[in-house]
Amino acid sequence: MKRKYDFLVVGTGIAGLSYALKVADAGSVCIVSKADAKETATRYAQGGIAAVMYTPDTYEKHIKDTMIAGDDLNDPEIVRITITESTDRIKDLIDWGVSFDKTKAGRFDLGREGGHSEYRVLHHKDNTGYEIQNVLLAQALKHPNIEILENHFAVEILTQHHLGEKVTRSRKDIECYGAYVLNINTNIVDTILAKVTMIATGGIGNVYSSTTNPTVATGDGIAMVYRAKGLVENMEFIQFHPTALYNPKEKPNFLITEALRGFGAILKTLKGQEFMHKYDRRGSLAPRDIVARAIDTEMKISGGEHVYLDCRHLNKNELIDHFPTIYAKCLSIGIDITTSMIPVVPAAHYVCGGIKVDEFGRSSIKQLYASGECAYTGLHGANRLASNSLLESLVFSHRAALDSKNVISKIQFNDRIRDWSYEGTVLNEEMILITQSIKDLQTLMSSYVGIVRSNLRLKRAMDRLEILYKETEDLFKKSILSVDICELRNLISVAYLIIKMAMGRKESRGLHYSLDYPRYISEINTYQSEL
Ligand SMILES: Cc1cc2nc3c(=O)[nH]c(=O)nc-3n(C[C@H](O)[C@H](O)[C@H](O)COP(=O)(O)OP(=O)(O)OC[C@H]3O[C@@H](n4cnc5c(N)ncnc54)[C@H](O)[C@@H]3O)c2cc1C
Repeated sequence: MKRKYDFLVVGTGIAGLSYALKVADAGSVCIVSKADAKETATRYAQGGIAAVMYTPDTYEKHIKDTMIAGDDLNDPEIVRITITESTDRIKDLIDWGVSFDKTKAGRFDLGREGGHSEYRVLHHKDNTGYEIQNVLLAQALKHPNIEILENHFAVEILTQHHLGEKVTRSRKDIECYGAYVLNINTNIVDTILAKVTMIATGGIGNVYSSTTNPTVATGDGIAMVYRAKGLVENMEFIQFHPTALYNPKEKPNFLITEALRGFGAILKTLKGQEFMHKYDRRGSLAPRDIVARAIDTEMKISGGEHVYLDCRHLNKNELIDHFPTIYAKCLSIGIDITTSMIPVVPAAHYVCGGIKVDEFGRSSIKQLYASGECAYTGLHGANRLASNSLLESLVFSHRAALDSKNVISKIQFNDRIRDWSYEGTVLNEEMILITQSIKDLQTLMSSYVGIVRSNLRLKRAMDRLEILYKETEDLFKKSILSVDICELRNLISVAYLIIKMAMGRKESRGLHYSLDYPRYISEINTYQSEL
């Protein structure tokens, strides 16, 4: 079935919804979400959103903090744009109805997180993302020009390739005409034609075995754009949270806050021995990236799948009083943290790279924009400053909306696009062919392309990925389309991009740490110690 909208938006997180709300006065908008519209990374964001609100904070200070965190691999112009527009974008959120906590004096109760030299993180209790998600979704649902299609999975973006033309990466005139979208309820692929398409599909966490990301984070947008011959950059920079609860049955991984280490909890090996002092004189209180690397090294040495966080020596009542959620969560899976150690593992948290876009969110493909975690604007460089990601989504969705509204009147629908062909495909009755490949992929990425890498590990990962790629492409060509096979295929593309870009980076920098380029270690440690 063919449908036509002026704007097609893929994704119902902060990036997709804020863009949709800003373009909706200029035409019809269709937003698709592959699951329930509420199921996004946005809703899980706890800390908050960084913005310059009051003195003594200044744009210059926030810019400097962002550049230091990004190890100077950031695009300075993009950093400046993002930070200097932060105050206005927060006003947009407030106008839509988002409420941020205030002090008794009526000023915003700003938090301060690692790497920030000032108090500048706006929050709504400890569930800021949930508040933003609910408010933006409610606004979108009541807008007469916006239609939201839940359980609709975007499969491919439409380009000249779907008119039978040869499309190569060197072509500068690739155009996007919308997307093929699988209606998960009916199993029918709709052709959604759009004058302008916005990709806001979020992160890639599920390419790894452990992740804080929701299950929808499978890098679909990045993979689709790459397959359509668009530019993707900076994928080697993956941020890991050092201590997530090790519980293989549960996705996403439950976060064990760093505050627990601040309270006195100690990291230990599987044999119950302390190890952090080998890596940093501050022991378990060392900065996030050092802790994550140390845990990774210990897991490589032991061959185990986790390490432990020990709270048994802490005052029982105070521990439960300060960390009731962690206590209850662990107890629910049979771990009493006052008498047993907590198994913890680093978990993939955020991808700094993605679809390459310019200062107006324009990708290298005409009429195609990208915003949010799937986009690479140049803001984060080699590492993301905490709470800058929600801000980035707002700033570039706003700018993309301005640009889209400017060009929309000059763009026509492309009616020559053919509908999806089901020819030669059969129902795949063996899910094991997909589920096992996903597990294999996640294991190889966690083992070889995680926090600590080396040329040998990357080569090994690429060799194994090649096998998975061939098997999956074969299966894909024969199978009736399903979300599982599409997600596997997308995860493989994302893994390829991470490995390829990691292989190309001949240095340890920011989040990319290679045993083969150790000269930079002391500099990294000095920089991280300042965070
Ligand atoms: C636990 C956690 C805590 C965090 N805390 C913070 C924080 O405090 N501050 C901060 O700034 N950042 C934080 N982040 C990061 C931040 O939440 C995300 O980067 C941001 O929310 C991404 O928003 P988005 O709109 O790009 O994507 P998302 O919010 O993830 O939305 C993606 C959307 O795309 C849809 N989608 C994906 N693929 C397809 C497809 N093929 N077809 C159709 N729809 C598709 C999904 O269904 C979903 O609707 C946190 C992340 C996590 C996981």
